[in-house]
Amino acid sequence: TEEMGIISGALEMKTKTVKDIMTPLDDIFMLPVEASFDFDILTEIECRGYTRIPIYEGVRANVVAIINVKQLTLVDLKVAAPVKSLVDFYKTDLFFVFENEKLDFMFRSFREGSRGHMAFVQKLNDEGPGDPRYETIGLVTMEDVLEELLQAE
Ligand code: ATP
Ligand code: ATP
Repeated sequence: TEEMGIISGALEMKTKTVKDIMTPLDDIFMLPVEASFDFDILTEIECRGYTRIPIYEGVRANVVAIINVKQLTLVDLKVAAPVKSLVDFYKTDLFFVFENEKLDFMFRSFREGSRGHMAFVQKLNDEGPGDPRYETIGLVTMEDVLEELLQAE
């Protein structure tokens, strides 16, 4: 029944992790910080339909900002504003979580809302030479968590 689906969804919130439900890095629509909002990129943003666009520097695993499409309202089509200028103007803190973070924590954090409704899933990469470093491996939004909670069997 639908009720059983909701109850098992609720129980799984304590054991499932963000890694289990995230949108993996390769599937994220994101832009490099050195891009500009020219006609082609604005058209692609429109086609993809996402509200939040992560911005990376260097490699995709290095997310440095989010642009909300609402922030593109004032972009002048004739000038092709650099992504960097919007990132600097609308400085937002990013919400990072570890890959093993549980969904019940995610739900409470998103509901509370002070860090927005998108979080970046991090893992510690200690392979190879050099210091261990954090890398982004995916993202989760409130929508992903709700889908998990409300799953009907
Ligand atoms: P909203 O519903 O607030 O307009 P949205 O539709 O852009 O936002 P969500 O509803 O939060 O995004 O998420 C829908 C799905 O899309 C989720 O699975 C989420 O992980 C994924 N998603 C969100 N943003 C991106 C993005 N930039 N690239 C790839 N997947 C994304
Ligand atoms: P939505 O509410 O449409 O799902 P969102 O929560 O990601 O999107 P906004 O709607 O633009 O982002 O903002 C909601 C509130 O959360 C605002 O008060 C905004 O200032 C705040 N906020 C959004 N993103 C962040 C962030 N990354 N860090 C801190 N505060 C944020």
